[in-house]
Amino acid sequence: MLLHLSTWQEVEAYLQQSRGIILPIGSTEQHGPTGLIGTDAICAEAIARGVGEATQAIVSPTINVGMALHHTAFPGTISLRPSTLILLIKDYVTCLTKAGFTKFYFINGHGGNIATLKAAFSETYAHLEDLQIVNAEKVQCQVANWFMCGSVYKLAKELYGNQEGSHATPSEVALTQYVYPEAIKQAPLSTEVGTGHKIYSAANFRQHYPDGRMGSNPALATPEHGKQFYDLAVKELSNGYLEFVNAE
Ligand SMILES: [Zn+2]
Repeated sequence: MLLHLSTWQEVEAYLQQSRGIILPIGSTEQHGPTGLIGTDAICAEAIARGVGEATQAIVSPTINVGMALHHTAFPGTISLRPSTLILLIKDYVTCLTKAGFTKFYFINGHGGNIATLKAAFSETYAHLEDLQIVNAEKVQCQVANWFMCGSVYKLAKELYGNQEGSHATPSEVALTQYVYPEAIKQAPLSTEVGTGHKIYSAANFRQHYPDGRMGSNPALATPEHGKQFYDLAVKELSNGYLEFVNAE
């Protein structure tokens, strides 16, 4: 059930049976010469909708822009500052808590969001308690990173070994190829790729990772692999969601 394709009465009826909601969150950032700018949001959205169907859970509109400041030296990247993303999460959760939701399951497609999401959860719990919103003490937020699912990680290792890398990875590119086969890109990839550098400023990032990849070889991606990653992530995160929503 997709929130934006529902009416308020349908949401009210849903709340009679469940207090859980799935929130896909991604990023709008460069993904190397063959990866789509929307990769992280596309992956999170597709998997979140799959989990929503499998578990009968409501799925919120995708949070398409995340924390990607270190990618902003590449054109097309849009980033929120961590402080802005914290406010955004706080506003989402506050509105939905007022409506009666208490279990917030963020399906995340971008490693750069994790630290800020965890900070946002702490800010949100305190904010809800300060406002003495009904059910504030019952609110629980969790971040589930599809790319860190055990089954996904294992398949990526089997298919790509150390050419999986850590950004613009063949696994995430494969998943976007499965979801949007009409947008598959071809571009030459140099055999040399930046790897192992720490992340500092956007300019520093581009200097160390000149084509935007981090140790990855996305030329290995195929839409068929993407379907395998999709199925594994939906299965594992459906279990994760049900466990989360049914726990005290
Ligand atoms: Zn990504």
